[in-house]
Amino acid sequence: MMFITRFAPSPTGPLHLGHAYSAMLAHDMARAARGRFLVRIDDLDQSRARPEWEAQCLEDLAWLGLDWPRPVLHQSSRLPRYRDALAQLWQMGLLYACTCTRSDIRAAVSAPQEGAALHGADGLVYPGTCRPATPPTGALPGDAALRLDMARALAGLDGPLTFLEKGCPITANPLAASLGDVVIASRAMGASYHLSVILDDADQNVSDVIRGEDLLEATPIHALLQRLLHLPTPRYHHHRLIRDTEGKRLAKRDDARAIATYRADGASPIDIRRMVGL
Ligand code: GLU
Repeated sequence: MMFITRFAPSPTGPLHLGHAYSAMLAHDMARAARGRFLVRIDDLDQSRARPEWEAQCLEDLAWLGLDWPRPVLHQSSRLPRYRDALAQLWQMGLLYACTCTRSDIRAAVSAPQEGAALHGADGLVYPGTCRPATPPTGALPGDAALRLDMARALAGLDGPLTFLEKGCPITANPLAASLGDVVIASRAMGASYHLSVILDDADQNVSDVIRGEDLLEATPIHALLQRLLHLPTPRYHHHRLIRDTEGKRLAKRDDARAIATYRADGASPIDIRRMVGL
């Protein structure tokens, strides 16, 4: 199997040192394995994606010395594909519509009888307010937030849910169960990140996902969706995060560490490699 990996920036702000590390590491690993490195634009959130950020991201990546096949895939062009997968999960009886707002969820989990609120990959673990006792029937709702009935999905699997992290097998059932009924489609974006990312990786034949360790917690959800939709599970490699001097992880808004700022200050791609320890 050919080694294929990808870097999938969301064009919602400038690339910073953390992104540069992730992209260069993926590029280096692909090159070492005589494989392919892809760039994909995660622009599903059209309320925040901007063409000028996309142009800047691609320019920064090229400046760093990375190369990838063109044209690049845009998530915004794949909504029908995401919708088909939603319909499949809906027909399997694993999704339900949820009308709770964030504040409804906060109020429900902070009710005195609930004990300490649990946090998962998507924030607060959903208390199940809208979860029906039996799977909903009828057509896939057109304009609703949809959640995955996690317990039902896990109960229907034959054999344990596993994925490889840096070559080590991880049994993911308890991790997935602890995340609760995650959102698989939101009203604003159609599909959620969890669904779009696994479909894109599968359709691009990605064999190895190289990304920050902040996403390790979401990987059980990805492995589960791959199993449910009969898609292959790539190998995962979650890398350390690049932090600022106070130890905080870099964020998009952290313009001071934007690649464009370093470029403007006269840094070279080699300087950036050194800064991130590559
Ligand atoms: N657009 C996502 C991000 O920037 C990609 C995550 C992934 O690599 O799966 O966090």
